[in-house]
Amino acid sequence: MSRMPVLFVGHGSPMNAIEDNQYTRTWKSIAQRIPKPEVILSVSAHWFTKGTYIFNGDNPRTIYDMYGFPKELYEVTYNTAGSPGFAGVSKELISRETKFDNSWGTDHGTWSVLVHMYPGRDIPVFQISIDAHASPEEHYKIGTELKTLREQGVLIFGTGNVVHNLRLVDWNTASKGYDWAYEFDEYIFKNILNKDDKNVLNYNELGNIARLAVPTPDHFNPLIYVLGASDENDKISVYNKSGELGSLTMTSYLWE
Ligand code: ZN
Repeated sequence: MSRMPVLFVGHGSPMNAIEDNQYTRTWKSIAQRIPKPEVILSVSAHWFTKGTYIFNGDNPRTIYDMYGFPKELYEVTYNTAGSPGFAGVSKELISRETKFDNSWGTDHGTWSVLVHMYPGRDIPVFQISIDAHASPEEHYKIGTELKTLREQGVLIFGTGNVVHNLRLVDWNTASKGYDWAYEFDEYIFKNILNKDDKNVLNYNELGNIARLAVPTPDHFNPLIYVLGASDENDKISVYNKSGELGSLTMTSYLWE
């Protein structure tokens, strides 16, 4: 079995699920170039909880955790098998207290991207939640603990956005970001390419720019899990390095 890469995708607007654009075409192309996973472990910005939870049911529900979008978006389903087996293995690997919880399922952070990457819906998917109270170091540690899953055909998939400030979104600004959005995105980009993980974790040291780019850590944290699961010897590819709606960046990273 080939060793799986790890992937962070900037998912942006939920509308990407039903659009065909530069971002979604890139997601498709990534799926075509990496080995087909046995199972997908998703860390989504949208399962942001008090404590760490793992979905271990057989059939995750499609969760519609977005509001005010066209009806068509709520008609998308992404029903796959879950993976009780790998959910159990993951719980064993994670050293901090972790509980099973099947009240969630597969949310739009996950399915808005996977509908493009794996439209066949034939790969089991399970999610691990993001503890809203954990530090960047704690998230990173979970990522490192899950790393061995890469040898077992599991794609560790983080879905969020490096820069994500919904309050400042400008819905009329396609494919452009504010200056501070580019500046923050560039800081993360440079440190990822230099494998300077510590600087990524210490993003708050950028001060005001970090507060604008990451007003709450839900969309940034998935990147930290994936970074933890990456390896010094991995080759890094960067995709969709672009600003969007002013206060989002779509930059995505593949380690393989
Ligand atoms: Zn989101």
